Amino acid sequence: MLKIPETKKSIPLSEPQFCGNEWKYLKECIDSGWVSSVGPFVEKFEAEVARRVGSRHAVSTVNGTSALHLALKACGVQSGDEVIVSSLTFIAPVNAISYCGAKPVFMDACLQTWQMDVDKVMRFLANECELRGQECFNKKTGCRIRAILPVHLYGLSCEIGRIMELAVKYHLRVIEDACEGVGVLYQGKHVGTFGDIGVFSFNGNKVVTSGGGGILVTSDPTYAQHARYLSTQAKDDGLEYIHNAVGYNYRLTNVHAAIGLAQLESLDDALEKKRIIAQRYEEGLRDMGVITLMPKPASVAATYWLYTILLPENTSLDKRRDLVRWLHGQGVECRPTWHPAHTLPPYRDAQSFEMEHSVRIYERGLCLPSSVGLSADDQERCISAVKSAVSRIIGG
Ligand SMILES: *Cc1c(COP(=O)(O)O)cnc(C)c1O
Repeated sequence: MLKIPETKKSIPLSEPQFCGNEWKYLKECIDSGWVSSVGPFVEKFEAEVARRVGSRHAVSTVNGTSALHLALKACGVQSGDEVIVSSLTFIAPVNAISYCGAKPVFMDACLQTWQMDVDKVMRFLANECELRGQECFNKKTGCRIRAILPVHLYGLSCEIGRIMELAVKYHLRVIEDACEGVGVLYQGKHVGTFGDIGVFSFNGNKVVTSGGGGILVTSDPTYAQHARYLSTQAKDDGLEYIHNAVGYNYRLTNVHAAIGLAQLESLDDALEKKRIIAQRYEEGLRDMGVITLMPKPASVAATYWLYTILLPENTSLDKRRDLVRWLHGQGVECRPTWHPAHTLPPYRDAQSFEMEHSVRIYERGLCLPSSVGLSADDQERCISAVKSAVSRIIGG
Protein backbone atom coordinates (compact mmCIF):
# COMPACT_ATOMS: atom_id res chain seq x y z
CA MET A 1 0.00 0.00 0.00
CA LEU A 2 1.20 3.47 -0.83
CA LYS A 3 2.12 5.33 2.32
CA ILE A 4 1.31 9.00 2.56
CA PRO A 5 4.34 10.81 4.00
CA GLU A 6 3.66 12.07 7.51
CA THR A 7 3.91 15.72 6.51
CA LYS A 8 1.26 15.40 3.80
CA LYS A 9 -1.39 13.93 6.08
CA SER A 10 -4.39 16.20 6.43
CA ILE A 11 -4.87 17.90 9.75
CA PRO A 12 -8.51 17.40 10.75
CA LEU A 13 -10.72 20.21 11.98
CA SER A 14 -11.72 18.47 15.19
CA GLU A 15 -11.19 14.81 15.90
CA PRO A 16 -11.78 13.00 19.19
CA GLN A 17 -9.03 11.76 21.48
CA PHE A 18 -9.44 8.59 23.54
CA CYS A 19 -6.87 8.07 26.23
CA GLY A 20 -8.81 7.20 29.38
CA ASN A 21 -11.26 4.53 30.49
CA GLU A 22 -13.19 4.28 27.19
CA TRP A 23 -12.17 0.67 26.43
CA LYS A 24 -12.66 -0.46 30.01
CA TYR A 25 -16.17 0.97 30.27
CA LEU A 26 -17.17 -0.34 26.84
CA LYS A 27 -16.02 -3.80 27.86
CA GLU A 28 -18.14 -3.53 31.01
CA CYS A 29 -21.18 -2.83 28.80
CA ILE A 30 -20.59 -5.91 26.67
CA ASP A 31 -19.68 -8.17 29.61
CA SER A 32 -22.72 -7.10 31.60
CA GLY A 33 -25.13 -7.15 28.66
CA TRP A 34 -26.21 -3.54 29.36
CA VAL A 35 -25.79 -2.12 25.88
CA SER A 36 -29.09 -0.44 25.14
CA SER A 37 -31.06 2.53 26.39
CA VAL A 38 -31.02 1.63 30.06
CA GLY A 39 -27.96 0.95 32.19
CA PRO A 40 -25.65 2.12 34.94
CA PHE A 41 -23.48 4.28 32.66
CA VAL A 42 -26.50 6.33 31.56
CA GLU A 43 -27.22 7.23 35.18
CA LYS A 44 -23.56 7.90 35.97
CA PHE A 45 -23.14 10.02 32.86
CA GLU A 46 -26.17 12.14 33.70
CA ALA A 47 -25.07 12.56 37.32
CA GLU A 48 -21.55 13.52 36.25
CA VAL A 49 -22.72 16.12 33.71
CA ALA A 50 -25.08 17.62 36.29
CA ARG A 51 -22.26 17.78 38.83
CA ARG A 52 -19.75 19.27 36.36
CA VAL A 53 -21.99 22.05 35.14
CA GLY A 54 -23.65 22.63 38.50
CA SER A 55 -27.22 21.77 37.58
CA ARG A 56 -29.75 19.73 39.52
CA HIS A 57 -31.14 17.53 36.73
CA ALA A 58 -29.77 16.06 33.52
CA VAL A 59 -31.57 14.02 30.86
CA SER A 60 -29.40 12.38 28.21
CA THR A 61 -30.50 11.84 24.62
CA VAL A 62 -29.25 10.35 21.34
CA ASN A 63 -27.81 13.69 20.20
CA GLY A 64 -27.84 17.41 20.89
CA THR A 65 -30.54 18.09 18.31
CA SER A 66 -33.04 15.77 20.02
CA ALA A 67 -32.21 17.36 23.39
CA LEU A 68 -33.02 20.77 21.89
CA HIS A 69 -36.30 19.39 20.56
CA LEU A 70 -37.25 18.03 24.00
CA ALA A 71 -36.16 21.27 25.69
CA LEU A 72 -38.50 23.28 23.46
CA LYS A 73 -41.37 20.85 24.07
CA ALA A 74 -40.77 20.89 27.83
CA CYS A 75 -40.85 24.70 27.76
CA GLY A 76 -44.27 24.55 26.15
CA VAL A 77 -43.34 25.63 22.62
CA GLN A 78 -46.33 24.72 20.48
CA SER A 79 -47.35 24.72 16.87
CA GLY A 80 -47.87 28.31 15.73
CA ASP A 81 -45.53 29.81 18.35
CA GLU A 82 -42.37 31.72 17.55
CA VAL A 83 -38.91 31.38 19.07
CA ILE A 84 -36.16 33.99 18.87
CA VAL A 85 -32.94 32.30 17.72
CA SER A 86 -29.45 33.22 16.48
CA SER A 87 -29.06 33.16 12.70
CA LEU A 88 -25.33 32.47 12.87
CA THR A 89 -25.48 28.91 14.13
CA PHE A 90 -25.28 25.27 13.19
CA ILE A 91 -28.77 24.51 11.90
CA ALA A 92 -29.77 22.12 14.73
CA PRO A 93 -31.55 24.59 17.06
CA VAL A 94 -33.46 26.12 14.15
CA ASN A 95 -34.60 22.71 12.93
CA ALA A 96 -35.64 21.79 16.47
CA ILE A 97 -37.95 24.82 16.48
CA SER A 98 -39.48 23.56 13.22
CA TYR A 99 -39.99 20.06 14.69
CA CYS A 100 -42.36 21.73 17.21
CA GLY A 101 -44.35 23.34 14.40
CA ALA A 102 -43.06 26.70 15.61
CA LYS A 103 -41.27 29.42 13.60
CA PRO A 104 -37.87 30.98 14.16
CA VAL A 105 -37.43 34.74 14.43
CA PHE A 106 -33.80 35.30 13.46
CA MET A 107 -31.51 37.57 15.41
CA ASP A 108 -28.29 39.05 14.11
CA ALA A 109 -24.82 38.40 15.51
CA CYS A 110 -22.81 41.15 17.15
CA LEU A 111 -19.71 42.02 15.09
CA GLN A 112 -17.44 42.12 18.14
CA THR A 113 -18.58 38.92 19.89
CA TRP A 114 -20.14 36.94 16.97
CA GLN A 115 -22.87 35.92 19.44
CA MET A 116 -26.57 36.93 19.46
CA ASP A 117 -26.81 40.74 19.53
CA VAL A 118 -28.67 41.46 22.74
CA ASP A 119 -29.24 45.15 21.90
CA LYS A 120 -31.20 43.98 18.87
CA VAL A 121 -33.18 41.46 20.91
CA MET A 122 -34.05 44.33 23.24
CA ARG A 123 -35.12 46.58 20.36
CA PHE A 124 -37.13 43.78 18.78
CA LEU A 125 -39.03 43.05 21.99
CA ALA A 126 -39.57 46.74 22.78
CA ASN A 127 -40.70 47.83 19.31
CA GLU A 128 -42.06 44.80 17.52
CA CYS A 129 -43.75 42.91 20.35
CA GLU A 130 -46.44 43.47 22.94
CA LEU A 131 -47.30 41.85 26.22
CA ARG A 132 -50.83 40.55 26.67
CA GLY A 133 -51.09 39.46 30.27
CA GLN A 134 -48.24 37.03 30.87
CA GLU A 135 -47.59 36.34 27.18
CA CYS A 136 -45.54 38.08 24.54
CA PHE A 137 -46.86 38.56 20.99
CA ASN A 138 -45.18 39.52 17.74
CA LYS A 139 -47.18 42.50 16.45
CA LYS A 140 -46.36 41.79 12.81
CA THR A 141 -47.33 38.12 12.71
CA GLY A 142 -49.75 38.00 15.64
CA CYS A 143 -47.97 34.87 16.90
CA ARG A 144 -47.04 34.18 20.48
CA ILE A 145 -43.31 34.32 21.19
CA ARG A 146 -42.66 31.60 23.67
CA ALA A 147 -38.90 31.48 24.08
CA ILE A 148 -35.44 32.78 23.26
CA LEU A 149 -32.88 30.26 22.07
CA PRO A 150 -29.41 31.82 22.14
CA VAL A 151 -26.46 29.77 20.88
CA HIS A 152 -23.10 29.91 22.66
CA LEU A 153 -20.79 29.79 19.65
CA TYR A 154 -17.38 28.15 19.22
CA GLY A 155 -16.56 27.72 22.91
CA LEU A 156 -17.43 31.28 23.89
CA SER A 157 -20.53 32.54 25.67
CA CYS A 158 -23.26 34.89 24.56
CA GLU A 159 -24.33 37.68 26.92
CA ILE A 160 -26.62 35.32 28.74
CA GLY A 161 -27.02 37.57 31.80
CA ARG A 162 -28.67 40.32 29.75
CA ILE A 163 -30.77 37.79 27.83
CA MET A 164 -32.12 36.46 31.14
CA GLU A 165 -33.16 39.98 32.20
CA LEU A 166 -35.08 40.45 28.95
CA ALA A 167 -36.69 37.03 29.31
CA VAL A 168 -38.01 37.92 32.76
CA LYS A 169 -39.35 41.24 31.53
CA TYR A 170 -41.15 39.69 28.54
CA HIS A 171 -42.19 36.39 30.13
CA LEU A 172 -40.11 34.27 27.77
CA ARG A 173 -38.54 30.90 28.41
CA VAL A 174 -34.83 30.58 27.69
CA ILE A 175 -33.26 27.49 26.14
CA GLU A 176 -29.49 27.81 25.91
CA ASP A 177 -27.82 25.95 23.07
CA ALA A 178 -24.54 25.20 24.83
CA CYS A 179 -23.71 22.33 22.45
CA GLU A 180 -20.37 23.97 21.63
CA GLY A 181 -19.90 25.16 25.19
CA VAL A 182 -18.95 22.26 27.46
CA GLY A 183 -16.62 23.81 30.04
CA VAL A 184 -17.41 27.45 29.18
CA LEU A 185 -18.10 29.76 32.11
CA TYR A 186 -19.89 33.10 32.01
CA GLN A 187 -19.14 35.20 35.07
CA GLY A 188 -17.91 32.06 36.78
CA LYS A 189 -21.06 30.03 36.13
CA HIS A 190 -21.32 27.26 33.55
CA VAL A 191 -23.17 28.15 30.35
CA GLY A 192 -26.37 26.15 29.99
CA THR A 193 -27.33 26.75 33.64
CA PHE A 194 -28.73 30.29 33.28
CA GLY A 195 -31.84 29.57 31.24
CA ASP A 196 -34.81 27.31 31.93
CA ILE A 197 -32.97 24.52 30.11
CA GLY A 198 -29.45 24.18 28.72
CA VAL A 199 -28.37 21.69 26.06
CA PHE A 200 -25.00 20.09 25.35
CA SER A 201 -23.79 17.87 22.52
CA PHE A 202 -21.35 14.97 22.68
CA ASN A 203 -21.01 14.49 18.95
CA GLY A 204 -17.67 13.20 17.66
CA ASN A 205 -16.37 16.66 16.76
CA LYS A 206 -17.15 18.36 20.06
CA VAL A 207 -14.63 18.88 22.91
CA VAL A 208 -15.62 15.57 24.48
CA THR A 209 -17.74 12.91 22.80
CA SER A 210 -19.94 9.95 23.58
CA GLY A 211 -19.80 8.83 19.95
CA GLY A 212 -23.11 10.58 19.50
CA GLY A 213 -25.17 12.03 22.26
CA GLY A 214 -26.72 15.03 23.90
CA ILE A 215 -28.02 16.10 27.25
CA LEU A 216 -30.33 18.73 28.65
CA VAL A 217 -29.80 20.23 32.08
CA THR A 218 -32.25 22.13 34.23
CA SER A 219 -32.86 23.08 37.85
CA ASP A 220 -36.60 22.52 37.40
CA PRO A 221 -37.73 18.93 38.13
CA THR A 222 -40.92 19.43 36.10
CA TYR A 223 -38.95 20.17 32.93
CA ALA A 224 -36.64 17.22 33.59
CA GLN A 225 -39.51 14.80 34.17
CA HIS A 226 -41.38 15.97 31.12
CA ALA A 227 -38.30 15.71 28.88
CA ARG A 228 -37.50 12.23 30.18
CA TYR A 229 -41.09 11.15 29.66
CA LEU A 230 -41.08 12.38 26.05
CA SER A 231 -37.69 10.78 25.39
CA THR A 232 -39.12 7.39 26.43
CA GLN A 233 -42.06 7.29 23.98
CA ALA A 234 -44.23 8.98 26.65
CA LYS A 235 -44.67 5.62 28.30
CA ASP A 236 -47.07 5.82 31.24
CA ASP A 237 -47.22 2.13 32.03
CA GLY A 238 -44.19 -0.04 31.36
CA LEU A 239 -46.08 -3.31 31.52
CA GLU A 240 -49.25 -2.47 29.63
CA TYR A 241 -47.57 0.02 27.32
CA ILE A 242 -49.98 2.85 27.87
CA HIS A 243 -48.95 6.07 26.11
CA ASN A 244 -50.98 9.16 26.88
CA ALA A 245 -49.03 11.47 24.61
CA VAL A 246 -46.94 11.34 21.44
CA GLY A 247 -43.39 10.62 22.56
CA TYR A 248 -40.02 9.98 20.98
CA ASN A 249 -37.34 7.35 21.17
CA TYR A 250 -34.52 9.71 22.10
CA ARG A 251 -32.72 7.91 24.91
CA LEU A 252 -28.95 7.61 25.00
CA THR A 253 -27.63 4.04 25.07
CA ASN A 254 -25.45 2.66 27.85
CA VAL A 255 -22.66 2.10 25.29
CA HIS A 256 -22.62 5.78 24.33
CA ALA A 257 -22.88 6.87 27.95
CA ALA A 258 -19.89 4.65 28.78
CA ILE A 259 -17.74 6.49 26.24
CA GLY A 260 -19.14 9.82 27.39
CA LEU A 261 -18.35 9.13 31.04
CA ALA A 262 -14.76 8.16 30.23
CA GLN A 263 -14.40 11.32 28.16
CA LEU A 264 -15.75 13.51 30.97
CA GLU A 265 -13.00 12.14 33.20
CA SER A 266 -10.48 13.74 30.83
CA LEU A 267 -12.43 16.98 30.37
CA ASP A 268 -10.08 19.14 32.43
CA ASP A 269 -7.11 17.88 30.47
CA ALA A 270 -8.96 18.47 27.19
CA LEU A 271 -9.90 22.02 28.19
CA GLU A 272 -6.32 22.80 29.17
CA LYS A 273 -5.14 21.60 25.75
CA LYS A 274 -7.78 23.73 24.01
CA ARG A 275 -6.54 26.82 25.85
CA ILE A 276 -2.96 26.12 24.81
CA ILE A 277 -4.09 25.68 21.18
CA ALA A 278 -5.91 29.02 21.32
CA GLN A 279 -2.88 30.74 22.78
CA ARG A 280 -0.62 29.36 20.04
CA TYR A 281 -2.98 30.57 17.33
CA GLU A 282 -3.08 33.99 18.93
CA GLU A 283 0.68 34.22 19.17
CA GLY A 284 1.16 32.84 15.66
CA LEU A 285 -1.41 34.98 13.86
CA ARG A 286 -1.34 38.23 15.83
CA ASP A 287 1.49 39.77 13.81
CA MET A 288 -0.51 39.51 10.57
CA GLY A 289 -2.48 42.48 11.80
CA VAL A 290 -5.23 42.15 9.18
CA ILE A 291 -6.66 38.99 10.79
CA THR A 292 -9.25 39.40 13.55
CA LEU A 293 -8.56 36.90 16.32
CA MET A 294 -11.18 35.19 18.43
CA PRO A 295 -12.91 37.60 20.85
CA LYS A 296 -11.89 37.37 24.50
CA PRO A 297 -14.65 38.93 26.60
CA ALA A 298 -13.57 39.50 30.22
CA SER A 299 -16.73 37.84 31.56
CA VAL A 300 -16.10 34.55 29.72
CA ALA A 301 -13.83 31.60 30.51
CA ALA A 302 -13.62 30.31 26.94
CA THR A 303 -12.80 26.79 25.75
CA TYR A 304 -12.32 27.63 22.05
CA TRP A 305 -14.17 24.59 20.73
CA LEU A 306 -13.10 25.67 17.23
CA TYR A 307 -10.49 28.40 17.11
CA THR A 308 -12.02 30.89 14.69
CA ILE A 309 -10.70 33.99 12.97
CA LEU A 310 -12.09 36.64 10.68
CA LEU A 311 -10.14 37.16 7.46
CA PRO A 312 -9.20 40.74 6.43
CA GLU A 313 -12.06 43.19 6.10
CA ASN A 314 -11.81 43.34 2.30
CA THR A 315 -12.25 39.53 1.91
CA SER A 316 -14.99 38.65 -0.57
CA LEU A 317 -17.00 35.45 -0.37
CA ASP A 318 -15.30 34.15 -3.54
CA LYS A 319 -11.84 34.86 -2.15
CA ARG A 320 -12.71 33.14 1.11
CA ARG A 321 -13.93 30.12 -0.82
CA ASP A 322 -10.68 30.04 -2.81
CA LEU A 323 -8.75 30.31 0.43
CA VAL A 324 -10.59 27.41 2.09
CA ARG A 325 -10.01 25.27 -1.01
CA TRP A 326 -6.32 26.17 -1.08
CA LEU A 327 -5.89 25.33 2.60
CA HIS A 328 -7.61 21.98 2.08
CA GLY A 329 -5.13 21.35 -0.73
CA GLN A 330 -2.36 22.00 1.79
CA GLY A 331 -3.89 19.44 4.15
CA VAL A 332 -5.35 22.01 6.55
CA GLU A 333 -9.00 21.14 7.13
CA CYS A 334 -10.42 24.51 8.01
CA ARG A 335 -14.10 25.42 7.64
CA PRO A 336 -16.13 28.59 7.15
CA THR A 337 -18.20 29.81 10.08
CA TRP A 338 -21.83 28.63 10.14
CA HIS A 339 -23.99 29.58 7.21
CA PRO A 340 -26.54 32.14 8.48
CA ALA A 341 -29.75 30.15 8.83
CA HIS A 342 -32.00 32.99 7.66
CA THR A 343 -30.47 32.68 4.16
CA LEU A 344 -31.03 28.92 3.82
CA PRO A 345 -33.94 27.68 1.66
CA PRO A 346 -36.17 26.25 4.42
CA TYR A 347 -35.95 29.50 6.39
CA ARG A 348 -35.85 32.28 3.81
CA ASP A 349 -39.44 33.25 4.53
CA ALA A 350 -39.01 33.45 8.29
CA GLN A 351 -38.80 36.83 9.96
CA SER A 352 -35.34 38.23 10.65
CA PHE A 353 -34.61 41.41 12.54
CA GLU A 354 -32.05 44.09 11.63
CA MET A 355 -29.70 41.61 9.92
CA GLU A 356 -26.37 43.30 9.27
CA HIS A 357 -23.40 41.27 10.49
CA SER A 358 -24.21 37.55 10.36
CA VAL A 359 -23.57 37.28 6.63
CA ARG A 360 -20.31 39.25 6.77
CA ILE A 361 -19.04 37.10 9.64
CA TYR A 362 -19.86 34.05 7.53
CA GLU A 363 -18.10 35.52 4.50
CA ARG A 364 -14.95 36.33 6.49
CA GLY A 365 -15.00 33.63 9.17
CA LEU A 366 -12.63 30.68 9.25
CA CYS A 367 -12.57 27.86 11.82
CA LEU A 368 -9.09 26.37 12.20
CA PRO A 369 -8.04 22.83 13.16
CA SER A 370 -8.62 22.58 16.90
CA SER A 371 -8.52 18.91 17.91
CA VAL A 372 -7.60 18.30 21.51
CA GLY A 373 -4.74 16.14 20.23
CA LEU A 374 -3.38 18.73 17.75
CA SER A 375 0.43 18.65 18.02
CA ALA A 376 2.56 21.80 18.17
CA ASP A 377 4.16 20.85 14.84
CA ASP A 378 0.85 20.35 13.06
CA GLN A 379 -0.42 23.60 14.50
CA GLU A 380 2.69 25.37 13.21
CA ARG A 381 1.83 23.98 9.76
CA CYS A 382 -1.70 25.39 10.09
CA ILE A 383 -0.43 28.81 11.13
CA SER A 384 2.07 29.10 8.26
CA ALA A 385 -0.49 27.83 5.77
CA VAL A 386 -3.06 30.39 6.92
CA LYS A 387 -0.49 33.17 6.71
CA SER A 388 0.58 32.32 3.19
CA ALA A 389 -3.02 31.78 2.11
CA VAL A 390 -3.98 35.22 3.35
CA SER A 391 -1.04 36.95 1.61
CA ARG A 392 -1.45 34.96 -1.63
CA ILE A 393 -5.20 35.06 -1.99
CA ILE A 394 -6.50 38.02 -0.02
CA GLY A 395 -3.40 40.21 0.02
CA GLY A 396 -2.24 42.43 2.85
C1 LIG B 1 -23.19 20.29 17.59
C2 LIG B 1 -24.27 21.26 17.74
C3 LIG B 1 -25.59 20.86 18.05
C4 LIG B 1 -26.03 19.44 18.24
O1 LIG B 1 -25.57 18.60 17.31
P1 LIG B 1 -25.80 16.99 17.40
O2 LIG B 1 -24.96 16.52 16.28
O3 LIG B 1 -27.26 16.77 17.21
O4 LIG B 1 -25.33 16.52 18.74
C5 LIG B 1 -26.52 21.85 18.25
N1 LIG B 1 -26.23 23.15 18.15
C6 LIG B 1 -24.98 23.57 17.86
C7 LIG B 1 -24.73 25.04 17.79
C8 LIG B 1 -23.97 22.65 17.62
O5 LIG B 1 -22.75 23.09 17.30
